[in-house]
Amino acid sequence: MSTLRTPKDLADNELITPGQLAEIERVAEQYAIAISPAMAALIDRNDPNDPIALQFVPKASELTTTSEERADPIGDLVHSPVEGIVHRYPDRVLLKAVHVCPVYCRFCFRREMVGPQGLGTLSPEALDKAFAYIADHPEIWEVILTGGDPLVLSPRRLSELMQRLAAIDHVKIVRFHTRVPVVEPERIDEALIVALKASGKTTYVALHANHPRELTPVARKSCAKLVDAGIVMLSQSVLLKGINDNPDTLAALMRAFVETRIKPYYLHHPDLAPGTSHFRLSLEEGRALVAGLRGRISGLCQPTYVLDIPGGYGKAVIAPDTLSEKGGCTTISDYQGGNHTYPPEA
Ligand code: SF4
Repeated sequence: MSTLRTPKDLADNELITPGQLAEIERVAEQYAIAISPAMAALIDRNDPNDPIALQFVPKASELTTTSEERADPIGDLVHSPVEGIVHRYPDRVLLKAVHVCPVYCRFCFRREMVGPQGLGTLSPEALDKAFAYIADHPEIWEVILTGGDPLVLSPRRLSELMQRLAAIDHVKIVRFHTRVPVVEPERIDEALIVALKASGKTTYVALHANHPRELTPVARKSCAKLVDAGIVMLSQSVLLKGINDNPDTLAALMRAFVETRIKPYYLHHPDLAPGTSHFRLSLEEGRALVAGLRGRISGLCQPTYVLDIPGGYGKAVIAPDTLSEKGGCTTISDYQGGNHTYPPEA
């Protein structure tokens, strides 16, 4: 089986009904579709609420955009000094070399940028400018390769990127944000692992997974290869209505990470991406769920629950000291002490 990319592929594989074809064609005109063989195989066709299907199989509700949703929900563009770079915090940058993913998550916060009609892959000239920007800013200690999913690049391309970073002394940490070890575990081979390492740099891989069933034995093996090679792994998950918004699922997910030698890192409140309101829960509901994990599961399993404040103000930990409620209005403080109404006014 190959990756499912069209509404017809989904119908042929019993992931949508023939009656849904027309509406899913309309979704496909706006947002990319891809379900890798590993994820397609994991979907229980008999469960209408299968948490894997909900993450990857498009729905007509994606055609409804609410007033608070926005094309660039976390404000990448306002912090982009050159193409491919997002410099939101002083000591680190995102390097978005590629805007392609092995799967397209229906709740994706960069859904307007990724996919065949998205921002594409950086041209050699744009890449030169991005590396020049990093080299010219000695405060950049960490480079985070994201996109898109950087591990869709060939080992040769990844190795080239790492060697260029290796030549910049002040960069010490290189972090990859990826779903590949789970959704295309066969990609994690010796050549790719060698490509992710560079002399004098420490490599981290942050794995995006949202449901414990994603951590299959095969996925766990692919992660073990990375960890055995000395790469530190962290987790990133999105808190998603109907997928992982209950204490048992969240606990099982965090435990699955720790069992796989992946330290739970961020649990993201879902962003205000267009057509994703069916995935969102309130900050209060999220906070109650995360509070419920305390004491219930090991301290090793506790993620940090964060909101990327709309508009590009950065991440805020959702905790009593950053969140306040007054007259039915929620205010969240950013890391520089600024206060923001959430959700923002349309
Ligand atoms: S893998 Fe990441 S960038 Fe790609 S579709 Fe999913 S959330 Fe978006």
